[in-house]
Amino acid sequence: MDRTMQTTVILGGGVTGLSTAYHLARKGCCKVILIDKGAVGNGSSSRAAGIITGLLWSETGVLARQISLQLFRELSEELDGYSFRAVGALNLFDTQSWPERERLLPLYRRCGAPFEVLDAEEMRYRWPELQPRDEFIGLYDPLGGYSEPDEYVPALARKCRELGVDIREHQLVTGLVVRSGKVAGVRTAHETIEADAVVSTVYAWTNVLLAQEGIRLPVKAVVHQRYVTQALTAPLAIPAVNADPLGGYVRPAAGGRLLFGIETAEREEQRITELTYQLSALEAPDSLKEEIRSNFTPYVPSLACVDWDERRLGLLTFSMDGEPILGPVECLPGLYIGVAFHSGGFAYNPVSGMLLAELVENGRTSINIEAFSPDRFDQAETDAYLAETVKQKHVARRRH
Ligand SMILES: Cc1cc2nc3c(=O)[nH]c(=O)nc-3n(C[C@H](O)[C@H](O)[C@H](O)COP(=O)(O)OP(=O)(O)OC[C@H]3O[C@@H](n4cnc5c(N)ncnc54)[C@H](O)[C@@H]3O)c2cc1C
Repeated sequence: MDRTMQTTVILGGGVTGLSTAYHLARKGCCKVILIDKGAVGNGSSSRAAGIITGLLWSETGVLARQISLQLFRELSEELDGYSFRAVGALNLFDTQSWPERERLLPLYRRCGAPFEVLDAEEMRYRWPELQPRDEFIGLYDPLGGYSEPDEYVPALARKCRELGVDIREHQLVTGLVVRSGKVAGVRTAHETIEADAVVSTVYAWTNVLLAQEGIRLPVKAVVHQRYVTQALTAPLAIPAVNADPLGGYVRPAAGGRLLFGIETAEREEQRITELTYQLSALEAPDSLKEEIRSNFTPYVPSLACVDWDERRLGLLTFSMDGEPILGPVECLPGLYIGVAFHSGGFAYNPVSGMLLAELVENGRTSINIEAFSPDRFDQAETDAYLAETVKQKHVARRRH
């Protein structure tokens, strides 16, 4: 079969879809069409904090993130206007939460993922602008850091176009075309597009789109928000910090500012029931700004004397077991899915795109991703999970 004649349609122009398009276009193995119902990046991708750490919860996650960390560095060389901020990532724990994470240290050693365990005194010495409480323990990832979505998304979209990807914005995909039990294309509001493979990266809209084909995945969406301060008098030299004991995270931001994210544990999940749902409809209480200030000022004293600049709200998607869902779907050959990257879909995107492109090209991946398989869930358990409405604190808590 002449694979150069084949067409792959990617649904969704967030970082997962763009990254898949980029890897496929570089392989030159097929014609690539990427479709988004809005502008590229208009989903959660442009709203992300862009923090990445390689110190995750499973072997597959750790191995995948090692590839992402390497690819972010390579993309810094390749994409005009983008650079990965290699400031390191510091994961903070208190005495209650540390034992669970400590159990994962042998996994990191086995996988060759570098880390350092730091006490509060050492953290204060390395980063004098941070004032961790004496009980805090830091798990430092020297390879971690962050990306600015406002740089990364347009730079990756530009590169995709240069590589020949046909990016179609403001076109709603209304369903899949299925013939003889296989995916044969997609339908938009205006046309039918024939395809040999379809990659669904529509994130929070996955279940509402794929339900039409009888595919239901145990995925919950929750609202999440991040805030950026105005410029400080001098930029802080700090890593990206996942501060679970403080209910959020902080990192430096472009223009000498600081970016904070805050969780809303008591808020219920967000149900997406319409294909046309827009993230601009999301709301969050104004009081969250003050909550960040009161939680974080003892830790980042500079926050006391700076005002807020901007706020962005989006969605996080979590699977029932907390791990991403990425791979082919057994009941519908030709369909590949990437979703449920917990709060780390930005961090995963370089490797998610690489793996999805490998699957489309030859059905194999360079690392074992069985643990991410869409087929790993029991359908009755999935249905029960989808039927209950949960609060955010009841989805797996996995930061970046
Ligand atoms: C406030 C906030 C902070 C975050 N911080 C981090 C972080 O620090 N690190 C990290 O790794 N991750 C972070 N995340 C998570 C991250 O943003 C997501 O995991 C990631 O952006 C998911 O990318 P995606 O491409 O899979 O989905 P999206 O970016 O949501 O893209 C999906 C796209 O599909 C399109 N679409 C949907 N339905 C259709 C349809 N029917 N037809 C056509 N197009 C359709 C949408 O318009 C959208 O553009 C954060 C998220 C939020 C909200």
